[in-house]
Amino acid sequence: MADLKSQYARIKGPLRARVDAVLERGGFIMGPEIAELEARLSELTGARRCVACSSGTDALLLALMARGVGPGDAVFTTPFTFIATAEAIALLGAVPVFVDVEPGTLNLDAGKLAEACDALARGARPAPGWPEGLRPRGVVSVDVFGVPADYDAIGEVARARGLFVVEDAAQSLGASRGGRMAGSLAEISATSFYPSKPLGAYGDGGAVFCDEVTDELLLKSLRSHGQGEDGRYHRLGLNARLDTLQAAVLLAKLDVFEEELAARRRAAYRYEELLRGKVETPRPPPGVLPSWSQYAVQSDARAEILPRLKAAGIPTAIHYSVPLHLQPVFAKLGYAPGSLPVAEKACGRIFSLPMHADLTEKEQESVVRAIP
Ligand SMILES: *Cc1c(COP(=O)(O)O)cnc(C)c1O
Repeated sequence: MADLKSQYARIKGPLRARVDAVLERGGFIMGPEIAELEARLSELTGARRCVACSSGTDALLLALMARGVGPGDAVFTTPFTFIATAEAIALLGAVPVFVDVEPGTLNLDAGKLAEACDALARGARPAPGWPEGLRPRGVVSVDVFGVPADYDAIGEVARARGLFVVEDAAQSLGASRGGRMAGSLAEISATSFYPSKPLGAYGDGGAVFCDEVTDELLLKSLRSHGQGEDGRYHRLGLNARLDTLQAAVLLAKLDVFEEELAARRRAAYRYEELLRGKVETPRPPPGVLPSWSQYAVQSDARAEILPRLKAAGIPTAIHYSVPLHLQPVFAKLGYAPGSLPVAEKACGRIFSLPMHADLTEKEQESVVRAIP
């Protein structure tokens, strides 16, 4: 799906030089490449501060820990995302409150967020067996498939109710909305460098973005066992540092990131034209430049289309086949099928086609030919 081999062949020289420099010098934990990467990522996103870390999941955990999320808290999020989004909330002892998505972008629906928050504040519980007396604390919104969510609308709902907003930008690094870059669209943003993400390492990695220096210091402390600048331990934290070797890989990949984004955007335009009349193609809202971490289409005939693509040797994936509110791990929250219908309908119709910077026109034509 992501063709990391072609990418490696394209960037092998400079990438090996970056990695070799670390190996020759030593300093595998918090070497100078970490600060260099953080500065480059701040520049890319427009977020004032960046704290590199060990994964996208840990980036979300760090962001929520920085907001003091814990037992008794309700954190609103989308059911149409990777498990890590809600897992981070639940691992801290808070309850993920799932809010349905917009039919177009499949991102968190701000109108439904307002309704869900107001209902919870009135004491209504989304399902039987739901814990009582939860405090609405914050929102984790996801930029699914690399299309930033509507943070103007989400931010307005959140501000009026005293909620924090975290952007899960694991899929959207490089994307923008209204001229603002993903990673800078909320007070704290988290991203991932999992190998198949828009900017992928050769292993796990992630980053947290913020504007406030107090948040930066807190995130840096939480990243390294709660240690403060004075060397003492002020809070419980994690070992959530990024490896220096992964930072070296990411620095080499950042040099070609803009070109790769442009190539993915060209590929998305070509799919859009070639797929007309065959399947529903993604329609980013006006003002959005996606990162196209996935090119996800929808069809009622998915069950017939996928075997044909497989027979033609074309890889596909389903993101996501089961929405998070219906995953076994959250069964105790008691959400019933039908409770978040927009997300559930999308899960039954969606599938992703190959999408990467080295995708050729010929390859795209053969993908489309295999779809009846
Ligand atoms: C990939 C992903 C994560 C987790 O990132 P890891 O680096 O794999 O821990 C979190 N949220 C979303 C939306 C993702 O796609």
